[in-house]
Amino acid sequence: MEHIDEEELERYILKHACDEARIEEHLLVCHHCMDVLERLEDEIAVMKMALESSKTGKSARAGR
Ligand SMILES: [Zn+2]
Repeated sequence: MEHIDEEELERYILKHACDEARIEEHLLVCHHCMDVLERLEDEIAVMKMALESSKTGKSARAGR
């Protein structure tokens, strides 16, 4: 089985994937890509937080 590449998974997370349905179907049956997706989601979340705190200039604490 061919796996989805990380770049494509990244686009999927950011909702820019061109074939979302195919990726979703693959994720249902492939734990490997699910793991990669989860790792990328974490990385993207961290990146976004860093981006936002640099935008505001203040050290925005991720509170509850
Ligand atoms: Zn896969």
